[in-house]
Amino acid sequence: MTSAPAPARRLDIAGLELAELEARLAELGAPKYHARQIFAWIHRRGVTDFAAMSDLPKPLRSRLAEAWTVNTPTLIRKDVSTDGTTKYLFELGDGTRIESVFIPDTPAQTFCISSQVGCAMACAFCLTGKMGLTRHLTAGEIEGQVRVLAHDLGLAGPETAFNIVVMGMGEPLHNYDATMAALRIVGDKAGLAVPARRITLSTVGLVPGIEKLGQEPFMPNLAVSLHASHEDQRNLLVPVNRKYDLEALIAACKRFPLKRRSRITFEYVLLKGVNDTPDDARRLTRLLDGIKGKINLLPLNAAPGIPFERPEDGRVDAFARILADKGLTVSVRKSRGRDIRAACGQLIVDEGVRGARAKPSAAQVLADRL
Ligand code: SAH
Repeated sequence: MTSAPAPARRLDIAGLELAELEARLAELGAPKYHARQIFAWIHRRGVTDFAAMSDLPKPLRSRLAEAWTVNTPTLIRKDVSTDGTTKYLFELGDGTRIESVFIPDTPAQTFCISSQVGCAMACAFCLTGKMGLTRHLTAGEIEGQVRVLAHDLGLAGPETAFNIVVMGMGEPLHNYDATMAALRIVGDKAGLAVPARRITLSTVGLVPGIEKLGQEPFMPNLAVSLHASHEDQRNLLVPVNRKYDLEALIAACKRFPLKRRSRITFEYVLLKGVNDTPDDARRLTRLLDGIKGKINLLPLNAAPGIPFERPEDGRVDAFARILADKGLTVSVRKSRGRDIRAACGQLIVDEGVRGARAKPSAAQVLADRL
């Protein structure tokens, strides 16, 4: 008995950089310059239906519709906070879900995007970390978040601009190639043309990834999640410190090639009674001595399941003052979208907190040791 051949799977071109798109188009025997038109339709205009790409020859349009597809994360829900912060919940092709956040007027418009479903880093104060890692996102799923937000918010035009922070779910340097490909796609002048200086990638401190990032022609700004001023403290808060310790991380930051006037941002989550003492502040200034950096303090966004407390404002200010007095540039991150659970470290989906991955004892262990 013979059965009809299964229809060939269509190629998803969402995550292809322009040069790859040109190569794939050549395989179909079509002239290369059409790739730029297709790329502009998808990324700049937000059109994914080949039939609607009106400057392409009709036969090519039907050919593409048969052979190719443009997968786009499906928007499931949008929650708008009282402060205007908007959380986007997306479903991906395999049914997994991710979140992205739009933060208006900070002073620029900012998109916070995810790089993984869940995260493997298990930082003690982060809810996403408690999910564990489900999987890496593809380049198309990462750029797709930017594409959907830009078009949904009317920010894709040449007159508009937005910043991107890769600070949502996941560790971007753990999913290096897909993240960098996605950033090159959103940066491409034929598409959304987001300049690298408007993009910031935040890492838990994967040293080999930082070294590699320093060699990238399209290089975003670097933010490093420090969170501690000495090795023991960081081992407990950021478990990956046991592999890439503070000493190695600081050395990598010192070597990182910064463009003129640019600086590394060091994120430091403030946990009441754990890493928010004047001694911590002073150790931090010594640690960062000789690095072109600035510090972004993140008073903990507390949540059930996170075994730490947020310090009072006075304590945050005192910590910030010690740093500023030593000549460091300090900012305190305003917590945005807390009412819709869109703040840092709060992005989880599917009630996906797996108790087994959680480390509720970290605070206690830390309190005992300090
Ligand atoms: N994996 C990347 C991106 C993480 S999210 C990284 O580690 O940098 C961006 C920032 O939010 C990180 O500095 C992260 O440590 C911080 N964060 C996580 N949970 C938080 C919480 N509950 N409150 C405040 N900041 C938190």
